[in-house]
Amino acid sequence: MNRSIVLHSLRKMAEARSCKLHALMFPLPYQGHINPFVDLAIKLASKGFTITFVHTQYIYHTLTNDKQTDLFSQARKSGLDITCCTIYDGFPVDFDRRLQFVEYFISLLNDFPGRVDEFMGNMIGSGSSSPPVSVLIADSFFAWSPWIANKYGLVNVSFFTQPALAFAIGCHWELLTQNGHFPVKGDTEEEEITYVPGVDAISSKNLMSYFKEEEIGTPIHNFVFAAFHEMNRADFVLHHTVQELESKTLTTLSKNQPTYAIGPVYSFTNRPDISLRSESDCAKWLDSKPPGSVLYVSFGSVVQTTKQVIQEIAYGLLLSGVNFLWVAREDILDSGDSDIFPDGFQDETKDRGLIVPWCDQIMVLSNAGVGGFVTHCGWNSTLESMWFGVPMICNPVAYDQPTNRKLVVEDLKIGINLSDGESIHRQQVAEKIRGFMNASASQGLRDRSEKVKKILHNALDIGGSSQRNLDKFIEDLTAKIVDV
Ligand code: UDP
Repeated sequence: MNRSIVLHSLRKMAEARSCKLHALMFPLPYQGHINPFVDLAIKLASKGFTITFVHTQYIYHTLTNDKQTDLFSQARKSGLDITCCTIYDGFPVDFDRRLQFVEYFISLLNDFPGRVDEFMGNMIGSGSSSPPVSVLIADSFFAWSPWIANKYGLVNVSFFTQPALAFAIGCHWELLTQNGHFPVKGDTEEEEITYVPGVDAISSKNLMSYFKEEEIGTPIHNFVFAAFHEMNRADFVLHHTVQELESKTLTTLSKNQPTYAIGPVYSFTNRPDISLRSESDCAKWLDSKPPGSVLYVSFGSVVQTTKQVIQEIAYGLLLSGVNFLWVAREDILDSGDSDIFPDGFQDETKDRGLIVPWCDQIMVLSNAGVGGFVTHCGWNSTLESMWFGVPMICNPVAYDQPTNRKLVVEDLKIGINLSDGESIHRQQVAEKIRGFMNASASQGLRDRSEKVKKILHNALDIGGSSQRNLDKFIEDLTAKIVDV
């Protein structure tokens, strides 16, 4: 260890004894990861942490359009100690990270760790951080975090922004290999997997998409598996889930590593504007609709789908006759086609449908007009829907979404599948939507959604499981820094 790192460690211990912890936070540069990271940053700052939040220059530029905006100024005005700084991701801001996805992801895997090392060297070497940085809170999908934390003498906290179920599966990829379930081959029958510790049973079709044979060798597969190799090296793992929802999985995981379920980490006040796209205001339109009458449709910030799928959902909505609010990102089609909907669809549904490119989803889900959510089952969308007691119609596309769907539909029973088979048909979509939006036909689903909502709210109440877990994490973290 060089002299500046040793000096840094001594200052750090002294500050930890007086309970001043300074954490550097590194989210993966995607909306679904930035959102919970910012909320966690605010939560930790409100518990007395100093937070330095690290955005890539590209994300920072997208959020602020290079105006000298201070993203956390509002939070600071309310007394929180949070600042934001940037790191170069290797590409100019106008580089199209979606179109050049392969190049971007290969660089994130291979070159970004070196940039983080340089960034840390400058920050810690300069001795300017006050109190000195003692904690690295990185997205669990950053495989470099144990190495960087070790090099700079920091405590390594891994924040997993997906359900604990996905963590348990990911960390047991070797077991799945031994049992012949990884890679998942397209032409084999689905099988029930009952040996993953902490997971009663999961069908092979519900494993995360990067376990599929055809994904092997893709940049996303390599990126994710590099992280799965490292996840059990973190000093602490924070899970964006709730103890009561995934109790067995979390208890089993905690036998290997200090594990804390602290979700949902929402910060409805103080959260800066961190939307990477500009939001359409849907409040007035939603307010004009009867309570529980609107079906909200959105597939998150990243995944794409085919024109045929969109068409079947659109015609299904048309046939169902229900009110809907549909977030149709301009890049939702995998063909790149910007002509998203069938001819005449918007005209025919204009009295009962609103289509926008992006919205404030939390605001939408909190609106009394919304009675259901057709979702891709991204974990944030799932938790947000649970938080507001909104039942779901699930159409998972990729990544952890099939796994999340299992939790929603099979375990918690607060959602239904959009399609019963591999493909989506408009008649079936229409029937499902009609039954789902009919309050008496879907009463059981709605009652269970209310119960899950209560579980989430209780977890965040004083003395609730997530509050207790967060406090315990801070206590254990402080003890570890003082003991080093
Ligand atoms: N979101 C939003 N407006 C939209 C669609 C999504 O603010 O029109 C937010 C949503 O509230 C969630 C995040 O984007 O917090 C998407 O994360 P999720 O994990 O659901 O899906 P991902 O985009 O990662 O696939």
